[in-house]
Amino acid sequence: MRVSISSKCVGCGVCSAINPEVFEISINFAVVNPFYITGNEESCIDAAIECPVKAIDIRE
Ligand code: SF4
Repeated sequence: MRVSISSKCVGCGVCSAINPEVFEISINFAVVNPFYITGNEESCIDAAIECPVKAIDIRE
């Protein structure tokens, strides 16, 4: 699984609240830690669903 953040991100922190292992907020923008995606796939998908501006892109 690949997870990326688009420029639509507003740094709200919803993704890091759902999945703090993978998503971190840095200077009002979410960054992805790819090393923790494996094993956290479900909460990556949950974060993408809950992102208010649909800035999280998930690909297999
Ligand atoms: S939930 Fe979406 S808008 Fe909010 S910080 Fe995460 S990627 Fe950005």
